[in-house]
Amino acid sequence: MTETFAVRDPTDGTVVGDTPAQSRDEVHAIAARLRVAQPAWEALGPKARAAHVGRLRDWVLDHQDEIVELLRRESGKSQPDAALEAVGIVDVMTFFAGKAESAMADESQRPHGPLTMGKQLGVRRRPYPLVGVITPWNFPLTLPVMDAIPALLAGAAVLVKPSEYTPLALQRMVRAWNEELGAPDVFALALGTGEVGESVVEVSDYVQFTGSTVTGRKIGVRCAERLIPCGLELGGKDPMLVLADAPVERAANAAAWGGLVNSGQVCTSVERVYVEEAVADEFIDLLVERVRGLRSGPAANGELRDVGAMANANQVDIVERHVNDAVASGARVLTGGRRGPGPGFAYEPTVLVDVDQDMLVMREETFGPVIPVMRVADAEQAIELANDSPYGLSASVWTGDKQRGLNIARRLEAGAVNVNDVLSNLFAFGLPMAGWKRSGLGARLGGEDAIRKYCRTQAVTAARLTPATELAWYPYAS
Ligand code: NAD
Repeated sequence: MTETFAVRDPTDGTVVGDTPAQSRDEVHAIAARLRVAQPAWEALGPKARAAHVGRLRDWVLDHQDEIVELLRRESGKSQPDAALEAVGIVDVMTFFAGKAESAMADESQRPHGPLTMGKQLGVRRRPYPLVGVITPWNFPLTLPVMDAIPALLAGAAVLVKPSEYTPLALQRMVRAWNEELGAPDVFALALGTGEVGESVVEVSDYVQFTGSTVTGRKIGVRCAERLIPCGLELGGKDPMLVLADAPVERAANAAAWGGLVNSGQVCTSVERVYVEEAVADEFIDLLVERVRGLRSGPAANGELRDVGAMANANQVDIVERHVNDAVASGARVLTGGRRGPGPGFAYEPTVLVDVDQDMLVMREETFGPVIPVMRVADAEQAIELANDSPYGLSASVWTGDKQRGLNIARRLEAGAVNVNDVLSNLFAFGLPMAGWKRSGLGARLGGEDAIRKYCRTQAVTAARLTPATELAWYPYAS
């Protein structure tokens, strides 16, 4: 019999539901089943596949309350953060369904020289038959949907391994695809811990992974051994640069939201702030005032909370270690700085000052509700410190001069840059978001690329029936 384990609400430890822990044999059996259904799915064509995705999108719209409640309880998110995620996946499905036909269309090329003259040249795209998607717990629906829906639209079958902490909302959605909407059997889950993820890597033709850099490296090595491609979306330590000419109040609000939304458990969170000395006092005062005014902790009787809990005990331990290390080395806590409130896995929204670049909180991914702020002499120093990191996921620049911000963006080592804005690249599904340096490899999350990356290209040439001359046949002419 398949083992099951409990999924608990991080805010109070109550059991939200059970989920199976599947064996390696079970994962192989699911993969074999998906492979049988995939050719007919591919043969449907992109328009019909987009129609199936559209029906799933409508189902999500009709079941928003149920989905938000599952998300909130399994992840500990605040209600507004859960609602934002449930609405966000509707946008994702709408956007990619609209791109399927153009992304998958055959392309033709003109002959470009004597060796191709008179021939028909083209490129076709054929999907990898089985795509494995492995995702973390911070966005239990957005990340699987961002990865799986483009793969389905490409014509692949998809096997998703969600985080063992947060499988329930996704289980509900995939059950709707298979049982309530009667869609083809090409979308399935592999449930359990990292071992199940290893089995997913064994059975897939392409692996799309989102998670920590440590696990991503292991998966990259395993895929290299199997000679299959993978896309890796990994950790970040995203800097925010606040220059002396910045709109300081907006920048402080953006630092608060960008650093604390989803309790700071966003790959592109504001993880460190560099503020020019000239506006540092004003910026810090406004930031602290804003953060002190936030409502956090468990919500009783439908009360609204701005900042929810954290996903698990390990994550709170990391945050505590980073803050304690900073304080031991001379940083000051201006607000927060402790576990809680409430009995669950939570950490108070925190602002740290007097930090330096060598502290853990400025070097390693904290992934929690902590905003460390460092004063810098000028923009040059801010750029230098921002780039002094092994990560390169995203960055934001705040300045009164948009063109100056765009020029500075060109000098930042990051796969995405926001000017006078934070996190908006998360919602710009048309842009090819992909981490630089240790933040990622080979993955492009937006635009038509997001669908095409799941395809192998087929270069096709077709000769005219009776060519005037054969150029490359034996015996060679003199
Ligand atoms: P994680 O790497 O521990 O786990 C991610 C997933 O991989 C889980 O489903 C896990 O069960 C599975 N897994 C673990 N070991 C495995 C193995 N050996 N083989 C196959 N699968 C395995 O990450 P996490 O703690 O769940 O998530 C937090 C991390 O995710 C943070 O580092 C964060 O930055 C990153 N993240 C990145 C992005 C991005 O787009 N770049 C987005 C969100 C989160």
